Amino acid sequence: MNAQEVIQLEQQHVLGVYARAPFVLERGEGSTLYDTEGRAYLDCVAGIAVNALGYNDPGVLQAMQEAMATGLLHVSNLYHTAPHARLAALLCETSFADKVHFCNSGAEANEGAFKFARRYGRAHGGEEKVEILAFTNAFHGRTMGALAATPRPKYQDPFKPLMPGVRFAEFNDLESARRQMDERVCAIIVEPVQGEGGVHPATPEFLAGLRALADAYDALLIYDEVQCGVGRTGSLWAYQGYCKQGNGAIDEKGCAFEPDILTAAKPLAGGLPIGAILMRQRVAEVMQKGDHGSTFAGGPLVTHVAHHVVSRISQPDFLAAVEAKGKLLRDLIEEINSPHIREVRGKGLMIGVELDIEAAEVIQRGYKEGLILVNAGTNVLRLVPPLVITEAEIHEVVERLTRALQPA
Ligand code: PLP
Repeated sequence: MNAQEVIQLEQQHVLGVYARAPFVLERGEGSTLYDTEGRAYLDCVAGIAVNALGYNDPGVLQAMQEAMATGLLHVSNLYHTAPHARLAALLCETSFADKVHFCNSGAEANEGAFKFARRYGRAHGGEEKVEILAFTNAFHGRTMGALAATPRPKYQDPFKPLMPGVRFAEFNDLESARRQMDERVCAIIVEPVQGEGGVHPATPEFLAGLRALADAYDALLIYDEVQCGVGRTGSLWAYQGYCKQGNGAIDEKGCAFEPDILTAAKPLAGGLPIGAILMRQRVAEVMQKGDHGSTFAGGPLVTHVAHHVVSRISQPDFLAAVEAKGKLLRDLIEEINSPHIREVRGKGLMIGVELDIEAAEVIQRGYKEGLILVNAGTNVLRLVPPLVITEAEIHEVVERLTRALQPA
């Protein structure tokens, strides 16, 4: 089948909820994708911040082969397996968490976090303590609960009624959060770096303030690190970057920015579907056997591969390289002489470029230049390349981006 035939067949038979790029991908290597016509693209999307170790990574492939050699692709959560236990232990060792619960996606991780938070609220404050405080420009997923905390009319309106009990405050505005807070709130959910909403890092004062606010009301602080977690911002967990910045640091593991629950997904298993809910003991304690579950979650294949991915990404050298490459990419973009660039922002290899034109135009021109980009809102270009992108590739990305920003 040639590209046109594939696109036609898909359009005939696949639900049309995605606006797909006008080519058909065939293979990938490192940070480069190839289409069926043999064209190469430098990939600054990485499957929407998923393919942290790039394409055709020998370590990921070997981990998959090791897992497949056992014959156990799936066993369900009725049975113990070593990869499941080992991954949970590694996630706890490398974070604030005491316990982990696995699921299959980012949205599902947030659904689980909301359920745990409501269970916690009821246990600590009674029947009324079930409300969630979320923020403007947030994106937490497309399922009914996660969608209710994602305040975009385009995503929400056609599917109302949504899950009740969600209220909103202004992102990065602590006063606004204080005004929305009361005893009925069981959890505050925030992305330490907002992704889909336009690549907006939370200020340290905002996160520390939310931590204090949650404590004052015996509510849980949930970090949605589905996009910004697992090395993307130059620390394994984005909140740890805030600890590192200083204010708030207590010791190596503990810091004043720590959440009670953290949700992760996207890059965790090298491209295989997985989600994880990391939590403190006091959250774990309110959940009883049978309270929550999933057929596929945390199977031996995905968890074995995820263990490999987290082991590699959590190495200090790897994380330092992400930070350095993120700085290089950002500095080079800031040097681009284009009247269309309004602002460059982000953390590590999660960069947003706000434009005075629609990002979609530049994305289309990027394809012609051999560059894959994605938007975050109408006017923001988002760059979330594989974390293994090289310095030479970063220079090439910026050259291609410079050309894509020139008017046709
Ligand atoms: N939370 C954040 C911060 C995200 O960026 C996303 C997806 O982009 C989600 C949740 C939803 O994840 P998924 O698409 O795996 O359901």
